[in-house]
Amino acid sequence: MPSLKHRLPPRLALARQPTPIEKLEKFSTELGLSLWMKREDLTGSVCGGNKIRKLEFLLRDALLQKADTLITCGALQSNHARATAWAASKLGLRCHLFLEDSQGKKSLEGNLLLDRLLGAQVHTLSEQEYESVDQRMEQAAQAMLREGRRPYCIPKGGSNALGACGYIRVMEELLSQLGKKRLERTCLVLAVGSGGTYAGLALGKRILRLSTRIVGFNVDETPSFFLKKIVAISEEASRLLGIPLTLKSEEIEILDGYVGAGYGKSRPEELKLLARLASQEALLLDPTYTGKAFFGLWDQTRREPKKFGKEVLFLHTGGLFSLFAKGGELSPLLAS
Ligand SMILES: *Cc1c(COP(=O)(O)O)cnc(C)c1O
Repeated sequence: MPSLKHRLPPRLALARQPTPIEKLEKFSTELGLSLWMKREDLTGSVCGGNKIRKLEFLLRDALLQKADTLITCGALQSNHARATAWAASKLGLRCHLFLEDSQGKKSLEGNLLLDRLLGAQVHTLSEQEYESVDQRMEQAAQAMLREGRRPYCIPKGGSNALGACGYIRVMEELLSQLGKKRLERTCLVLAVGSGGTYAGLALGKRILRLSTRIVGFNVDETPSFFLKKIVAISEEASRLLGIPLTLKSEEIEILDGYVGAGYGKSRPEELKLLARLASQEALLLDPTYTGKAFFGLWDQTRREPKKFGKEVLFLHTGGLFSLFAKGGELSPLLAS
């Protein structure tokens, strides 16, 4: 069996792993398939979700470069920003977050509350200012360098080749949990927000020579945007790991149609399904990523029962805290 150990860069051990795989009994019956969840939301309490898997590699690199300050960006309720703030506190680093606040809604709730509790410095940007967030982070880094500090910039979602290594490892983790035969007859389903998680799984599949189908639901942008981005991450990974890994767009499957009301905005039917999963399976999804991807999986399977085969493994990539910023929208749905 091909092994990854000698190929991947070094990492810090920050996530609780391996994460468990659980069956959703009631939804399996409802949908007429075997539906499982990989509990990536259990990688930790405050650092829970997929981003800490990427940060294990990114932050080892930051420490090698003797960084004293982390800089990253995202939406106001960014899970990546919160996981970065957690890791900064854990490692004794400073943390600057550039967050898009299109509605001027600065109430301290969900992830934003945690960012501040964890000691991160939050810079909010309007939608227009956020368009140049990469330059803004770079300028902040330059200013810090002039003051003698050592900043380390992490791209949106931690989605570059180094971050994707986190999900190359998860593919290996799945292989050891399920075995090759079972993993190959299982369809992996996940939310795609900045592409790094999908890229890592697809690279892991390539390196481990698996035939597993991997389906992503985009919760923002378009499939063609993500095809380009995931191919670009795979090219960067080829250079980083020194092996040819460039993915072809035909190897990447992104299903469109579930962005719904827009990034971070929920439709009642998505929230109702999320509430039903909570009351029937004791599982909480997040409204922005897993709630939408799970709605996509459920909706597509109802229309076309064999679409994803008989065994489906949904990646629960975390994000619970942003649910606590949605109480107002949820309450009328729960009253009925
Ligand atoms: C960031 C995020 C995703 C998407 O992962 P990407 O690697 O950015 O595509 C999915 N689910 C949750 C909860 C997230 O926070």
